[in-house]
Amino acid sequence: MLTCAKMSLMDLSSKKNVKNLLFERKIRPKKALGQNFLISRRALCAVTKAAELSSDDIVLEIGPGIGNLTQELAKKAEKVITIEKDKEMIGVLRETLADFNNVELIHGDILKLDPKNLTPSPYKLVANLPYYIVAPVIRKFLESAEVQPPRLMVLMVQKEVAQRICSRPPDMNLLAISVQFYAEPKIISYVPKNAFWPQPKVDSAIIRLRVGGRKCRADSGLFFRIARAGFSHPRKQLLNNLSQGMNISRETAKNWLLKNALRPTQRAETLNLQDWLNLAKSFKIN
Ligand code: SAH
Repeated sequence: MLTCAKMSLMDLSSKKNVKNLLFERKIRPKKALGQNFLISRRALCAVTKAAELSSDDIVLEIGPGIGNLTQELAKKAEKVITIEKDKEMIGVLRETLADFNNVELIHGDILKLDPKNLTPSPYKLVANLPYYIVAPVIRKFLESAEVQPPRLMVLMVQKEVAQRICSRPPDMNLLAISVQFYAEPKIISYVPKNAFWPQPKVDSAIIRLRVGGRKCRADSGLFFRIARAGFSHPRKQLLNNLSQGMNISRETAKNWLLKNALRPTQRAETLNLQDWLNLAKSFKIN
């Protein structure tokens, strides 16, 4: 069932139309900028639906490309603020988004812009981005103390990255812990590589991060110091990693773990978020 509004505009989910759009302007998709455009209406709808938009929502979209996803977001939200790095795409966007008066186009690099100046709070973030900037974007919007985090993030990421982010014990990893400290991640659906043009080498997944609520954000510095120490050698036992990484004796590390109902021989992958929070709460320098 397709819930997206009907297109009166050029259908940007058609591979032929997208190819023509770029061909007429002598533009080739840029690999270095991760330009793989969504040419599946089903996938465009799935991303839009995952953002749970209502008419008073403000959306920050990173990497609008040809404006295919932007159009769907703009039909549902009050306002869409888009940030695109590629100057050539800005020219395309001026045309494909000409009929929308609730879209703001910004030419810039998301990793260099100060998000504080971009969005009134609250807002939602939506992005289909090159894979190599997904982690820096998550870091920028979730971990940075100066940035007001979005209420919700919907991201198209490599399938394996999505699975890593949503991991549970006994398969935890530092990326999962880092994201889950701030947000509840969920895989919404998998997207096959033929939903994109040009076709990438890997399958993708749509993930939604619900930000805030659950965790106390206090002392994130100590929390991440402990988690990083715990995962410093993932195959090693916690006792070794924590005593070395936190600069404490083996005896102190052992008592600290036992106090938190953890076995010194356990490995970091087997701990859940609450275990790390408990460790941070009970850490004493002596
Ligand atoms: N949203 C479109 C396009 C995805 S391709 C779709 O889903 O089909 C990824 C887009 O991100 C490209 O348009 C690329 O130029 C843009 N991009 C890449 N790096 C960026 C950065 N650092 N800041 C902003 N946009 C970026």
